[in-house]
Amino acid sequence: ITSAEQEVLDEIEANDIDFLRLQFTDILGTVKNVSVPARQAEKAFTEGIYFDGSSIEGFVRIQESDMRLTPDPETFAILPWRDRDEGASARLICDVVNTSTGKPFEGDPRYVLKRALDRAEEMGYTVNAAPEPEFFLFEEDEVGRATTTTNDAGGYFDLAPKDLASDVRRDIIYGLESMGFEVEASHHEVAEGQHEINFEYDDALTTADNVATFRTVVRAIAAQHDYHATFMPKPIPKINGSGMHTHLSLFTEDGENAFHDGDDEFDLSDEARAFTAGILEHAPAITAVANPTVNSYKRLVPGYEAPVYVAWSDRNRSSLIRKPAARVPAASRVELRSPDPSCNPYLAIATMIHAGLNGIEQDLECPDPVRENIYEFDEETREEYGITTLPSNLGEAVDALEADEAIVDALGEHVSSKFVDAKRQEFEEYLVDVSQWELDRYLETF
Ligand code: GLN
Ligand code: MG
Ligand code: MG
Ligand code: MG
Repeated sequence: ITSAEQEVLDEIEANDIDFLRLQFTDILGTVKNVSVPARQAEKAFTEGIYFDGSSIEGFVRIQESDMRLTPDPETFAILPWRDRDEGASARLICDVVNTSTGKPFEGDPRYVLKRALDRAEEMGYTVNAAPEPEFFLFEEDEVGRATTTTNDAGGYFDLAPKDLASDVRRDIIYGLESMGFEVEASHHEVAEGQHEINFEYDDALTTADNVATFRTVVRAIAAQHDYHATFMPKPIPKINGSGMHTHLSLFTEDGENAFHDGDDEFDLSDEARAFTAGILEHAPAITAVANPTVNSYKRLVPGYEAPVYVAWSDRNRSSLIRKPAARVPAASRVELRSPDPSCNPYLAIATMIHAGLNGIEQDLECPDPVRENIYEFDEETREEYGITTLPSNLGEAVDALEADEAIVDALGEHVSSKFVDAKRQEFEEYLVDVSQWELDRYLETF
């Protein structure tokens, strides 16, 4: 047992923890739980906990279903809410091990991200990431099902009494802080019922773990207030959808921000530009992973502060990548604005990192920033500026992913093929469905 593991055992003792939730995510980013009595903690660290991987989306076939979870002691956190008939619970995020080889399971999204971080490290970098997840709070109906009735009519940075959710949001923030989050800011977003909570940047693995945890905490605490929190990207047509802008920077081994160059007009180093160029080049394929639902593409339309066009800028918010103003050198970073909170954060961040590192490795040339509102450009102007568009639906995005060898490699053979299969099926189901819109429009017309 390591000293970090011993610390966890002590915490379990000191806080009277009864149950441990061992967590990991499937390829779609859904958090999975295996609950074990806390007295099994030591065994979990030394031997791992075995489970049947065949019932997990995108994992393995029945014949090869034995998987093992190895808890990461750094991820120990006490859950801020209690189940009614249980004592206190804590969670540990786990790595998944293939029992037949004893090696990390290549279908584990956390492992996919770790591979990206290993590559960065080989190139001399550590990766920092910070997400800005947005979500809606909706009322529940009499039987507790989610509606799309927003809980308030507030707008950007509105305060109470219009922003009725501020007490829910405050409880969410307390919950997050008790789990070790450093919440930077939280505010009412542009749309009614829409909220955003930003947390402090961290190394990319911790940030991906945090996003997975964040969604669980937000939903659980909202439910305590009889609200349904949703990370669905575009729950209501014709108003803003929910994004999860992701800020990235590379640091060198001696703790310097490799993205900062005070002599540059935008404070961006050559590495930051090449990294940006890499993301722009692989943007269509990244979209499949960062915007993985049919509904994601209802958000990526002009006019709602979500990106549609492949360009970067130091100011306007219609571009795919923005260079936010940085108060200190350490804060120089690039912000990718396409991801939405329905993505698997491990896979999405892994593809962004690989794309950016490719840019650096190949010394890709970064185009000039586009400082105008691209939503207002016509096709001709876009062509003149060399601006392409993101995939306009999930099918196109999956095609782009399949055609992009670098992003397929970023995910690895196992995850990319399972992901493509699952997403193709999802898109085909959608294509043959008849929606309410069609019925409203055609049923009585024809
Ligand atoms: N909700 C917008 C999106 O879809 C972002 C709005 C904002 O943060 N300024 O990305
Ligand atoms: Mg924000
Ligand atoms: Mg926002
Ligand atoms: Mg932002």
